[in-house]
Amino acid sequence: MPLTALDIYKVLPKTNCGECGVPTCLAFAMSLATKKAAIDACPYATDDAKATLAGAAAPPIRLVSIGPEAQCIVMGNETVLFRHEETFYHPTAIAVRIRTDRSPEELKAEFERVQAMVFDRVGQYVRVEMVALEDVDGDPGRFAAAAALADGMGLALMLMSDAPAVIESALAGISAHRPLLYAATADNWEAMAALAKARACPLVVRGKDLDELADLTRRIAALGVTDLVLDSGARGLGATLSDLTQIRRLALRRQFRPLGYPAMAFVTAQDPIDQVTEGTAYLCKYAGLVVTDGLQDWQALAMLTARQNIYTDPQKPIQIEPGVRAIGKPDASSPVLITTNFSLTYFTVEADVEASHTAAWALIVDTEGQSVLTAWAADKFTAETIAKALAASDLADRVTHRKAVLPGGVATLSGKLEELSGWEIMVGPRESAGMTMFMRNRWRPSEVAPTS
Ligand code: SF4
Repeated sequence: MPLTALDIYKVLPKTNCGECGVPTCLAFAMSLATKKAAIDACPYATDDAKATLAGAAAPPIRLVSIGPEAQCIVMGNETVLFRHEETFYHPTAIAVRIRTDRSPEELKAEFERVQAMVFDRVGQYVRVEMVALEDVDGDPGRFAAAAALADGMGLALMLMSDAPAVIESALAGISAHRPLLYAATADNWEAMAALAKARACPLVVRGKDLDELADLTRRIAALGVTDLVLDSGARGLGATLSDLTQIRRLALRRQFRPLGYPAMAFVTAQDPIDQVTEGTAYLCKYAGLVVTDGLQDWQALAMLTARQNIYTDPQKPIQIEPGVRAIGKPDASSPVLITTNFSLTYFTVEADVEASHTAAWALIVDTEGQSVLTAWAADKFTAETIAKALAASDLADRVTHRKAVLPGGVATLSGKLEELSGWEIMVGPRESAGMTMFMRNRWRPSEVAPTS
């Protein structure tokens, strides 16, 4: 819970000297409680007072970053249980678990497969971010070589071994890239914490249940290692989801600091479809990191699509730049299609036009990222806004006709739009899936009128 003015007042000097800019310590405490002042303004605040206030101001779920600074993976610092309350901020990282009992050639091929899991979806690149490298035979040399190979290929890493010495062997060459160390347990936590501290790496803490986990994080944090990720030890969908939910609730609702860190989960299903279902459940609730085995491209795309949807701010739809875009290689006789700047709408139209094996000019109207009918209902996709966008564009120079295609769902705008724009408005299909038929049956190059 946030500190009240009275809580803060208790740790101030209570001398009412006024040097902080207000006449009394109580007034200063009230300013601090409402975040109108910073503790630094009081020259007499003790270190204890500063630590108390800093602790109260800390986010309920610590922000933890993994990997090199320039391209680090960030998790934690979430503030809500439900996305509609605000938004989820840091998309769940996805790691593919790769065991090190393979030849260097096989490992390299696996790493390359992970590297290639990058997809262009609705104008954004989504990717699998990490490799979870697992030591299976306790061989430090083999583990270090595999880690160096992955690191050299630019992959973010989680180094998995119960033996601190094995992880230390791998860290010698790559600790500057801040791999995530897995894992501190009741048996090795002191050595793992020392390693994490010495190498400034984030550390996974694994308990056999939430009580042991909280006990371990308290001890490790007391050693000065605070970039922690939680593994409750649960495996399987039901138990893992239950622990992830409890961790999130305790951190946010109770401000329970020992569990105030991002949490992770392992996919354990064997069936490929079940793997996707399980992994997706974890990224919805509430894993900062999901580790899965043998991920195929189609599985990765399914999980990344779900992640992209869950981690899009519901109040800020994914948008593209308004203006004119070429779909395919349009020419002066190609149709002009009117659409909105909601990414999903535009890229659906684009895909459907491409599927029809034609080319077109897209006039993308700024609707603040809303889809056709939503924008129309909100008065952002009107005859006036479309006519204005058309006039501001250079489409009149790009095409030799004056015909534009309006989405069928807003056919009611066609008359007024014709009046305002001076263009002939054709009513297109209600869904862009009908674009192939529309292009085939309604749009005719022979209908092109000469430019006047
Ligand atoms: Fe109190 Fe510090 Fe302000 Fe002086 S400067 S009034 S001691 S809070």
